[in-house]
Amino acid sequence: MSVDVGIDPSTPPSGTGCLECEQTGGWWFHLRRCAQCGHIGCCDSSPSQHASRHAAESGHPVIRSFEPGEAWFWSFRTGDFLDGPDLAPPEAHPDEQPVPGPAGRVPADWERHLH
Ligand SMILES: [Zn+2]
Ligand SMILES: [Zn+2]
Repeated sequence: MSVDVGIDPSTPPSGTGCLECEQTGGWWFHLRRCAQCGHIGCCDSSPSQHASRHAAESGHPVIRSFEPGEAWFWSFRTGDFLDGPDLAPPEAHPDEQPVPGPAGRVPADWERHLH
């Protein structure tokens, strides 16, 4: 059992898409998972940057990639990558979910909207 600060391996992800973007009809580029509470948010390249905003508002310091095949962790506290344990499944959004996503909400000129 890991005792890493900001990491709770028993908490499942909040869903398969960015929590706030799903509520507001937005779209995202890549997805990040809060390693503490399971919040799924969009990355800093996405229009709304909800993962960073969640970390700032909640004080939860560690995120993990929610992209298929990626297992890296990042600490907002240290500004660096770190190793972490396996988290409660699913470890990433479904392979068939498009990037950027979600299907039907990404504008044709989406690359112009990235940060
Ligand atoms: Zn978002
Ligand atoms: Zn969190």
